[in-house]
Amino acid sequence: MLKGRTAIITGSTSGIGLGIAETLAAAGAAVMLNGFGDPAQIEEIRRSLAERHGVRVAYSGADLSKPAEVRRMVEQAVAELGAVDILVNNAGIQHVAPIDEFPDDKWDAILAINLSAAFHAIKAAVPGMRERRWGRIVNVASTHGLVASAGKAGYVAAKHGVVGLTKVVALDLANDGITCNAICPGWVLTPLVERQIEARAKEAGMAVQQAKEELLREKQPMLAFTTPEQIGALAVFLCSDGAATMTGTALPIDGGWTAQ
Ligand code: NAD
Repeated sequence: MLKGRTAIITGSTSGIGLGIAETLAAAGAAVMLNGFGDPAQIEEIRRSLAERHGVRVAYSGADLSKPAEVRRMVEQAVAELGAVDILVNNAGIQHVAPIDEFPDDKWDAILAINLSAAFHAIKAAVPGMRERRWGRIVNVASTHGLVASAGKAGYVAAKHGVVGLTKVVALDLANDGITCNAICPGWVLTPLVERQIEARAKEAGMAVQQAKEELLREKQPMLAFTTPEQIGALAVFLCSDGAATMTGTALPIDGGWTAQ
């Protein structure tokens, strides 16, 4: 379905981004991976994706907290894959602390990686999409782009910002053949969430399995984690012709979290 298309997926060396890269590659898109990690492991992910799906797979180690590196990542994708038809802004970090103890440097880093990087990447990728009159921008926001949780000032502010940015980009590009949508996952069991579960288990002196169950029960009526591949399936749908007039939306995939 996406044969001949090219995609950048930021933060795709792990978790949701890797799931989206896998699903886009399976649908036939050439992909550029991005994110941190052990170089040998990243090369193995790159090689395996290319081999299993018969698509070109590139990698950019851009640090998305730096706008110049975000722009270079887009240039590298154009140079190595020929274009950027699909941009998935997925990279994100988390920090949990009460507002009066929230570290300034964590606030700055969360805003830079979770929100500003999406702005810089969209700005760099749009001219090429506009020229070809086809583009799909998918921003991985969160339920925290729609509602709040205690202790997550930086994350909730950034994710609400991503939902707002999504709407503006959709309007700015409404007649250019380019759509922009946000995906708002509830809990997905990735390293980002595993760290939160471990912290909760330690704080409450409980087993990790119990902390996992309590994490779900606190917010999600459906007591099951969404998988990265399910998020990937939604991203593929947003890139399909069926979604050609869907733009500016913020789509929960959250086990009922925001239905309450
Ligand atoms: P993760 O920690 O598994 O993956 C994060 C990815 O971002 C990694 O590839 C990491 O290397 C990359 N990254 C981090 N900082 C970076 C930087 N400065 N430059 C480049 N890459 C960087 O996390 P995840 O859970 O897969 O999260 C992915 C996205 O999904 C995030 O935006 C997160 O907020 C969002 N999200 C996650 C959940 C969840 O339950 N896991 C729920 C809702 C939204």
